Amino acid sequence: MSAIIYPTTNLKATETLTLERGDGVYVYDNNGNKYLEGLAGLWCTSLGYNNRELIETVNEQLSTLCYSHMFGGKTHQVGMDLSDKLSAMLPVNNGKIFFGNSGSDANDSHIKMLRYYFNAIGKPEKRKIISRERAYHGVTVASAALTGLAPNHEHFDLPFEALGILRTDAPHYYRGALKGESEVQFVERITHNLEQLILKEGPETIAAFIAEPITGASGVIVPPKGYYEKVQAILNKYDILFWADEVITGFGRTGNDFGSTTMNIQSPDLMTLAKQLSSAYMPISAAVIKGDMYEAMIEPSSQVGVFGHGYTYSGHPTAAAVALKTLEIYERDNVFEKAADVGEYLQRRLAEFRDHPLVGEVRGAGLLAAVEFVANKSTGEAFNGGAIGAYAQQACQKHGLITRSVAGSSLAFCPPLIITLEQVDELIEKFSKGLQDTLDYVV
Ligand code: PLP
Repeated sequence: MSAIIYPTTNLKATETLTLERGDGVYVYDNNGNKYLEGLAGLWCTSLGYNNRELIETVNEQLSTLCYSHMFGGKTHQVGMDLSDKLSAMLPVNNGKIFFGNSGSDANDSHIKMLRYYFNAIGKPEKRKIISRERAYHGVTVASAALTGLAPNHEHFDLPFEALGILRTDAPHYYRGALKGESEVQFVERITHNLEQLILKEGPETIAAFIAEPITGASGVIVPPKGYYEKVQAILNKYDILFWADEVITGFGRTGNDFGSTTMNIQSPDLMTLAKQLSSAYMPISAAVIKGDMYEAMIEPSSQVGVFGHGYTYSGHPTAAAVALKTLEIYERDNVFEKAADVGEYLQRRLAEFRDHPLVGEVRGAGLLAAVEFVANKSTGEAFNGGAIGAYAQQACQKHGLITRSVAGSSLAFCPPLIITLEQVDELIEKFSKGLQDTLDYVV
């Protein structure tokens, strides 16, 4: 099995899949088998594999300035161009951008910048962060504390209490509603819980509320209508910042430019971006804060002599170049608009499985979706453990479709944004076969 400690893997499992190459929405293993990449790698290869323009951009940048850091005012044109282009397209007011390497480290940077900012404006007690059950925000020590999933905490002795992360309800009506509760009542109840939490902790101690507009890793949870409007009204009332983690939902994934747009979230104060920022051709992330926050951080950094946060690869020119090219391609080729159309089709086709005996819920937006399996269709009783999702994932793989088991008993779909209608039909056909195998296994 080689010397690799495999990330997010059952270390006892021995089955591996060795991928050798990719082209468009397809990847090929070392035995020449072809798979439709139904999860865009890990929700990230938006422009698909073997995109010549992106590859040439990387090669060109490597041969001009392969590396430069950004400490102490060193900069490069491609990094500045990327930050300007990105800032102009974001719904964050006068957004300022700290570049990193991954979604996890961007979220760490945000935690630190929140502290820096509130210390700067004389509110050092404002440092707690509200996150939600079943949230996924990464796996570094700090971002894992934001994450609300047991496997990311157990045996690691996480989360660290000292970080002050508070937990509120996941906005999942299908799994979270009380018996007989309508969607409207569900939203009323969980937002009431949020307000009670804020009052109990003291609003003056709470810096921010973090949310994936639509969750990814925890099963593609699409909150009911009106949820974010209510959440934002409460946060505004208590002067708490809204932090949108758009690592998956950013860049055309949910039928609009950003998940915040799809979910009617108004001007997030902070935003986390990674993955589709570079179509995954190079690792790069962006921790974005509104201009006011940045302005407040200038003076204290001058007092200390430096804003003491930065990575060797913050603003890596090769990553910046390929991210800039990715954004240009999104714009030039109307990638988001086309993905929105194909996304509607994907949602329609997946909805055909609603009557299937194993399927409890089909949910999603744009080219992001999940199908949740249930042990009992009429009662919605869940399967015990994660075996069903893992089985379905393997079954689909045997039929040439890569997807991902999430939250134990759901299968997630997140194909490259360039997928065509015909390829969606192919995805559905392969999923249908995998689902039939899963049903045969269960009964
Ligand atoms: N935030 C969200 C919403 C994510 O989905 C992920 C990864 O899937 C992360 C943060 C962490 O990103 P990374 O794996 O690049 O550290």
